[in-house]
Amino acid sequence: MTVRTRADLDSLPGYIPGKSVAGAVKLASNEVSLGPLPSVVTAIAAAAAGINRYPDSGATELVAALAAKLGVEPSQVAVGCGSVTLCQQLIQATCTEADEVLFPWRSFEAYPILTHVVGASQVRVPLTAEHALDIDAMIAAVTPATRLVYVCTPNNPTGTALTRAELERFIDAVPSDVLVVIDEAYREFVDDPEVPDGVVIAKEQWARGRDNVAVLRTFSKAYGLAGLRVGYLVAPESVTEAVRKVFVPFGVNAIAQVAALASLAAEDELLARCRDIVAERGRVRAELLALGYEVPETQANFVWLPLGERTAEFNEHCLNHKVVVRAFAGDGARVTIGTPEENDLFLSAAKAFSG
Ligand SMILES: *Cc1c(COP(=O)(O)O)cnc(C)c1O
Repeated sequence: MTVRTRADLDSLPGYIPGKSVAGAVKLASNEVSLGPLPSVVTAIAAAAAGINRYPDSGATELVAALAAKLGVEPSQVAVGCGSVTLCQQLIQATCTEADEVLFPWRSFEAYPILTHVVGASQVRVPLTAEHALDIDAMIAAVTPATRLVYVCTPNNPTGTALTRAELERFIDAVPSDVLVVIDEAYREFVDDPEVPDGVVIAKEQWARGRDNVAVLRTFSKAYGLAGLRVGYLVAPESVTEAVRKVFVPFGVNAIAQVAALASLAAEDELLARCRDIVAERGRVRAELLALGYEVPETQANFVWLPLGERTAEFNEHCLNHKVVVRAFAGDGARVTIGTPEENDLFLSAAKAFSG
């Protein structure tokens, strides 16, 4: 006899990670191409000697360092085993089967899967024709059953970001008992002054008594720790407390905590790398536009090519050129900005496809 699992799991798509192909350049997972900083590797090596002990379940030192950096109380920070785990905890902490999670679509692949696993309903709000979050449609989609809204800005996979005015208009329109989570996995790559810092917005909203605004960030992207799994939530204490109630103990391992602290200490160096990626992003996008591709303006470390029905063909073509991109069949391809050499390889593949 086969074990009986939940019948609805069959209908659930698995999360598809970016592929790794031997000998090919991987531009599929929005990772930083350069390896970890030597100072971070040294800290990790030193921490390895202590792994017979459980980690600090509350990640006290890391939480304190984040709180100091962001100008919030330690009680307003929760860490997780990647921000994707915090996404799940947020849904678990706010929703049961009667409730709805609202998010833009297309957006982060994990939102629908995590929502379904928790058993809540998904409300997906299509992006605008310009591949941006449709604020009016999102406002219109809020119902009495809405408990949680994910606002992914810059949006994965399209790279578009909300302006301060748009974000504030949205927050103002949402009832104050609905949690608005600004997912800022790519915040460190933003260079448009119109695009606000979500933590600044959240603090302003808390000061006005709006305790329903939270921010998610991660060490996986700009800080180069994708393999270690650390992310954090900045939220009012009522929210961080709720999120801690549904956490799996010791989720953030000891090495990850130390590496995250060492990365915060080396933040200037890591953010300088981000600025290089931002410069490359401008170059890659300009070259793609010159080749005739449609490329929405992007504030993240990737570009989005809305190729529609040609996406699968483009994906195959790139694989043949030893470049792995992230294709969403029938919709588009997301391509991470890598090193200049990696980007050149991708651009020559893109040129061969268009020509
Ligand atoms: C990558 C990503 C995350 C989560 O990354 P973790 O590695 O789990 O911290 C969250 N949100 C978005 C939009 C992302 O692209």
